[in-house]
Amino acid sequence: AVATHRAERGAHYDPAFDADLKYRQSIDLALRSAVARSEFSLVFQPQVDMETRLTIGVEALLRWTSPEHGAVSPAVFVPLAEENGTIVEIGAWVAHEACRLAVANNWPGRLSVNVSPLQFTQDDVVAMIASALLQSGFPPNRLDIEVTESLLAQGGAIVETLEKLRDLGASIAIDDFGTGYSSLNYLSSLPLDKLKIDQSFVRQLANPRNASIVETIVSLGRRLGLVVVVEGVETEAQFDLLAALGCHIAQGYLFGRPGALPAVEQPLNQQLAPPLETPVLLDGTR
Ligand code: C2E
Ligand code: MG
Ligand code: MG
Ligand code: MG
Repeated sequence: AVATHRAERGAHYDPAFDADLKYRQSIDLALRSAVARSEFSLVFQPQVDMETRLTIGVEALLRWTSPEHGAVSPAVFVPLAEENGTIVEIGAWVAHEACRLAVANNWPGRLSVNVSPLQFTQDDVVAMIASALLQSGFPPNRLDIEVTESLLAQGGAIVETLEKLRDLGASIAIDDFGTGYSSLNYLSSLPLDKLKIDQSFVRQLANPRNASIVETIVSLGRRLGLVVVVEGVETEAQFDLLAALGCHIAQGYLFGRPGALPAVEQPLNQQLAPPLETPVLLDGTR
């Protein structure tokens, strides 16, 4: 296929294309042994209740340091891991490790984990999540599973699988909302708990037309009884506007870059715990 492609390119042969292809092939190969070689780690980014500005949760984000390639961004390797299927093994590692670390550090808040669409088709994702919860002892009702719009578009058995994850006690968040091939149909028909507005909307919030789009997504989410999370919040000005538009939870550099689990200075059930029990987190109402 490579040779054919090259032949078709004919006079337009581009050495940069070959270099890129070689890089991707070598990443592809390295991904296949990266879990076994313990090359992955997790960082955590705070999620803040916009009313109290207290951290109420964290999202686990994957990091890969390859001996050969150095630090590779998940924006680069996750799509490749989805292409070659290694995301199934990697994603299971993420869920187990995130729950394990949360328990080991007495993390009292919510924990969000990204689950790729391929894990739903190539793995028993319910059994995998159940195992991560059971092995770690992390409370199921503090786990959020982030799925993307492309998964929801698959239809079929997905509703049943999401319901089973909810039966375990976990919540479902739709990630990067507004960037995929959105069908508003599934928003009302699927068992969802949270809607995460993609950071691309936040970046362009100064543009009134984009602010209108965000306002519409927020009210849609709220009317459907979803908790509305917004990612990529970098400035106080963005925060104020998003709070005024009715978002419930904010995530972004304004409150912290992905890193170690935030240190909890107050004992459990004091500073961090109460917001977890407020209705905003359970049904999206205030
Ligand atoms: P995502 O799930 O939408 O995660 C949010 C991304 O936005 C993270 O990038 C985070 O570092 C970045 N971010 C957070 N706040 C800000 C901000 O204020 N400004 C800017 N400019 N960026 C911000 P990261 O960690 O590079 O991850 C990129 C994507 O890789 C994730 O997007 C997710 O799609 C994927 N990914 C990461 N970890 C996993 C994983 O464990 N499993 C799967 N399937 N995908 C993952
Ligand atoms: Mg996410
Ligand atoms: Mg996201
Ligand atoms: Mg995103």
